[in-house]
Amino acid sequence: MNRLVLSSLLLLSVFFIACEDDPIEPAINQTNNSPSNPSSNSTQTNSTNDTNSIEYYFNKFEQEAYEQGFSIDLAAQGINYKFEDIEQEFVAGMCTYNSHEPNQITIDREFWQKASNSLREMVIFHELGHCALGRDHREGHDADGFCISIMRSGDGSCRDGYNSQTKTYYMSELFNDLYFNELFN
Ligand SMILES: [Zn+2]
Repeated sequence: MNRLVLSSLLLLSVFFIACEDDPIEPAINQTNNSPSNPSSNSTQTNSTNDTNSIEYYFNKFEQEAYEQGFSIDLAAQGINYKFEDIEQEFVAGMCTYNSHEPNQITIDREFWQKASNSLREMVIFHELGHCALGRDHREGHDADGFCISIMRSGDGSCRDGYNSQTKTYYMSELFNDLYFNELFN
């Protein structure tokens, strides 16, 4: 089954995002739903503008979180990242939790070199959805077949629709799902 899918549909979707979701530990240290805790004035004055760096997308994630009413500090959460040649085909990134390397995001080198900035952002945000927000995968698609969440598993049941026009929706979905989880779980 998996091999069938692999050899047909999913080749078109370019990449998977593999994630080790094993012990999902919501790792949110500092959620704050009221924007009364602004840290935006100081934080990233020294931030990199290099879109080739993972740090650039980490900073953007924190900014998006802030706009959604959450204060997230990835460094304080101890989330690390590294490049690696990931052996599994089509795997662009991973978020791993284990005692040896807690909250480790690994990005495939080759994927990174070839990916657009938008795709890089989606993959980093997806992995941070696991590592920083403690989110699991969410499948499902709209009437046109587009994924309802960037937290899709990559099983081929939907198409990625992440772009500058849809970003507002996807960011709301990413963080508000978290918000509801926090409230009701
Ligand atoms: Zn994932």
